[in-house]
Amino acid sequence: MSKSIITPPDSPARTDSHPHRILVVGGSYAGVSGLVNLLHLIDGKPNRPSPTSTLPDLKGLKSRKGVQVTLLDRRDGFFHTVGAPLAHVSPSHVRSSWRTYRSIRALRHPNFTFVQGYLKFLDPESLRATYLTPSGDETCIEYDYLLLCTGLKRDWPIIPRAADFHSYVADAEREIKKIQDAKADATGRRIVVIVGGGAVGIEFAAEIKLCHPHVHVTLVHSRHELLSSEDMPAAFKQESLRVLRHEGVDVVLGQRACITHGEGTSHIVTLSDGTAIHAGHVINATGKTLPSSAFLPAHILDEHGFVKAEETLSFPPSSPHHARHYAAGDICAWSGVKRAGTALVMAHVAATNIMREILLSEKLCYPSNSHIPIDELSLHDTAPATPPSARSSLDGDNSSNHEDTAMNKNKPSQTKSADDEPFGPAARFPAVPPMMGLAVGRQAVSWNPYAAETRSGVEVREMLFGEDLGWRATLKCLGLDEELEV
Ligand SMILES: Cc1cc2nc3c(=O)[nH]c(=O)nc-3n(C[C@H](O)[C@H](O)[C@H](O)COP(=O)(O)OP(=O)(O)OC[C@H]3O[C@@H](n4cnc5c(N)ncnc54)[C@H](O)[C@@H]3O)c2cc1C
Repeated sequence: MSKSIITPPDSPARTDSHPHRILVVGGSYAGVSGLVNLLHLIDGKPNRPSPTSTLPDLKGLKSRKGVQVTLLDRRDGFFHTVGAPLAHVSPSHVRSSWRTYRSIRALRHPNFTFVQGYLKFLDPESLRATYLTPSGDETCIEYDYLLLCTGLKRDWPIIPRAADFHSYVADAEREIKKIQDAKADATGRRIVVIVGGGAVGIEFAAEIKLCHPHVHVTLVHSRHELLSSEDMPAAFKQESLRVLRHEGVDVVLGQRACITHGEGTSHIVTLSDGTAIHAGHVINATGKTLPSSAFLPAHILDEHGFVKAEETLSFPPSSPHHARHYAAGDICAWSGVKRAGTALVMAHVAATNIMREILLSEKLCYPSNSHIPIDELSLHDTAPATPPSARSSLDGDNSSNHEDTAMNKNKPSQTKSADDEPFGPAARFPAVPPMMGLAVGRQAVSWNPYAAETRSGVEVREMLFGEDLGWRATLKCLGLDEELEV
């Protein structure tokens, strides 16, 4: 059964007083950063500075029509993926790693709605998203602006497979029990094998050894160096290997692993040289990571399925209503390593550009020679300032994207000039050089491309990750400090 939640933009029922509808899909690092910044701007608060980009100055203006923001996510909360290697091996970190959206105070905002569901199909032409509810019903949301933050798909136990907090906690506690109860081999050793020597495999192996020192942890990697598929300096990879071994993990390089189930709960991991490891538990960290983008038309995606985002983080100009569609985080085809920090900053830029588009679309309601002070753009619905003639010609479409602006260029009341760009150009997100910080047990290893420096040690872990693999720092960076008290 299909039902419409919000009136479509070109519906006869829509009036000029309807709010702009922003749909954010995916509520993790990028999505929550986008939401927090949007709600901030909607309230007319000054934009936070961006570490990477010159942001347009929105002058604290509020939309005259108002803005309604909806988050769609298959999960019921913000999960700290960076902390998964800790949360999925240490019982005391499970619950705190998942914040239900309902419990995040900053999202208790009159202009915000959360919808739990799995996006199945997105039609940028009709500005309509079709999703499955948790009970499997197919439903539609119509929007005016989209911020897509659906990231990458990964297997359990690397990231949660559950969609709700309680199922997630049950899953994680079962997983941890498998590590704690790993069956001993003939020599009495309880062995846990991690297959895959990328960043995820390294962090899981090291956290298991740190949290369960009685367990013998072996990491098996098919190549002769760790992080073999990462575009990182050899010195960083070698230091990661040194620190991982120093933290007590047995590292086997240059061997493929074949996993078969042995008796009871044990597994046999057979290496290419014939060695058989009788493991009490195995975690496969080799799974291919794919972008969560199957719901998009193919022409918006590159050959690997990532969104071909512009520097402004809008969809490519060839896609319909491209200036109403933005993407941020891992889902974007972008330079550098996929990182949570990058996702946070990208979404800040995208959210600002969406708000700029909204304010500019209202600015287009004014004749260019009317000299209406920019401050009047923030008038509330109760005191509409738009001249009726100009308003009627814009009913049903508030876009200021390139196609729409070009179409309207002969209409004097809608002509854009330098005076109509009161906020400055849209923000642009720069190319990102490869950089990485790896939590490796009590230590961390980092590569800083700006200083061309590899660092490692206990103090590096403290600085980059704290005690919770960066959860507290992430919430602080999002301005959600008060969530720490919840
Ligand atoms: C184990 C591990 C350790 C990591 N460590 C670090 C680290 O130390 N530092 C670092 O910077 N980065 C690290 N990363 C990378 C970091 O986690 C990602 O870069 C980050 O999660 C990207 O954030 P995102 O918001 O773009 O996407 P994601 O975090 O992938 O979030 C996507 C969101 O979209 C939702 N979603 C997806 N598809 C749909 C759909 N069809 N319908 C509805 N909702 C959907 C998901 O439920 C999720 O909430 C690590 C990753 C892993 C797996």
